[in-house]
Amino acid sequence: MKSILFSLTLTAILFPVWVHAEDELPRILFVTQSEGFVHNPVKRGSGERSSAELAIMQLAKDSGAFSVVCTQNAVADFTRENLQNFDIVAFYTSGDLPITEADFDYFLREWLPQKGKGVLGFHSATDTFREFEPYWDLMGGTFESHPWTQEANVTMQVHDPEHPTMKPFEKSQFAFQDEIYQYRHWEPEKVRVLMSLDMEHTELKRPYHVPVAWCKQVGQGRLFYNNMGHRSETWQDPRFLQSILNAVRWIDGQLEGEAEPNPEVSQAQHQASEKFASAAGITLEKLEAEKKAREATDAARRAAREKRAAQQRVPN
Ligand SMILES: [Zn+2]
Repeated sequence: MKSILFSLTLTAILFPVWVHAEDELPRILFVTQSEGFVHNPVKRGSGERSSAELAIMQLAKDSGAFSVVCTQNAVADFTRENLQNFDIVAFYTSGDLPITEADFDYFLREWLPQKGKGVLGFHSATDTFREFEPYWDLMGGTFESHPWTQEANVTMQVHDPEHPTMKPFEKSQFAFQDEIYQYRHWEPEKVRVLMSLDMEHTELKRPYHVPVAWCKQVGQGRLFYNNMGHRSETWQDPRFLQSILNAVRWIDGQLEGEAEPNPEVSQAQHQASEKFASAAGITLEKLEAEKKAREATDAARRAAREKRAAQQRVPN
């Protein structure tokens, strides 16, 4: 008995972070409600779980590191009362969710700033509440468009390879296939950017910084966002899944990782992107002119359609 007690104590001393009683594990509420675009990984079959839900449930089971409840019903589950049952809210959502301003305000100002609380955002978490400032200010950016479609092969650059959420990607530069966003409301002074599009090695270039993953501190709470996850394949990628697991442990305080904003990285990335895009003949002015030309063509088509419709309405 004594030796069992001794070895248990020794285990607790040597591996304090792993000795987590079942009821002390971080509890995740995984919200995958889509009020806008519905991504394949969050589509549920008849009464079944989606592939993203299954992936997170499997991760919880295999790691024994957290528990998860999945919901596509924010009205019932994203409430002040129900938030008491969770430590982390994970969003893979879209559009304007049916969350009351009072509940969101509580979530942002009282619930999240506590030690051990956190937010995980995947892919279209930034295509959620696009016009609701408290949400996009929390998330760190808002979807604007995705010049890099799901067929695109892009190259990622990791800025903080020692951060627990980035370690699983192993390399400071790697190729990946997924849909990548560009953002509005990007606030580099408020976040620590961890991964960006490597504009030098990505074929389709843009003359500005395109962040991919970042984190921030909210009071004593923590947020981690990763743009990856449009494709179902991403939810099978061991690096992506290990990064989620590490993010949970980082939020829980088991793993150390900086959250200090690094706007200088954004600035350097912006300058590098400008350089590589301009060498490929792509400038902001050119993109702006192309956009105007597209809008003019669309307007002309619309006018022609309306004219035809009006002519059809004229009685002979
Ligand atoms: Zn997408």
